[in-house]
Amino acid sequence: MRALLLVVSAPSGAGKTTLCRLLIERLGFRFSVSHTTRPPRPGEEEGRDYYFVSREEFESMVSRGEFVEWAEVHGHLYGTSRAEVEEALARGEDLLLDIDVQGASSLRRFFPEAVFVFVAPPSLSELERRLRARGTETEEVLQRRLARAREEMTFAPWFDYVVVNDEVERAFGDLVAIVRAERCRPPRLPLWPR
Ligand code: 5GP
Repeated sequence: MRALLLVVSAPSGAGKTTLCRLLIERLGFRFSVSHTTRPPRPGEEEGRDYYFVSREEFESMVSRGEFVEWAEVHGHLYGTSRAEVEEALARGEDLLLDIDVQGASSLRRFFPEAVFVFVAPPSLSELERRLRARGTETEEVLQRRLARAREEMTFAPWFDYVVVNDEVERAFGDLVAIVRAERCRPPRLPLWPR
């Protein structure tokens, strides 16, 4: 059975983190640990959540061509190293990449066989309600995140699948179905034989 490369993107507040955790815990996906210049949040661990690096280190990795994709998100740099992906694929492990929409679009060119899933909130007003309930952001940051979310939503049609996260277990059920269907799918061929 071929290993799956599952790319999950979502606007912030859509509940992607919980769904990714379930994919790891229940379906045994390995999490692709990204490099970032963002400082660690309380509880985050080096090498488990991210590899935390300086902007200089990150930029020299970019110039050495060590990333399969990278992007700037909310003022910080984030990237997936070639090593992270190639090691998992060499071991035949299913890999889960939690990356933003810009990263997903550049990966599509690199790994056409990867499966791209967009996690959407039920609506933008529900997303705003969730972000406000979280209460971790100032009004200015919240407005910025909402504007970005609106823009990110326009990327949804380019993904292979869109999962609406109205309720976690139901949305996770969609992900299980997607993984199951993808495991049954032979590699895509360019043309149907005559
Ligand atoms: P956070 O700082 O909240 O952990 O992540 C912010 C955003 O960066 C999320 O949308 C997350 O998916 C994205 N992100 C995390 N790692 C990567 C990466 O390696 N590449 C890209 N393009 N985005 C990433």
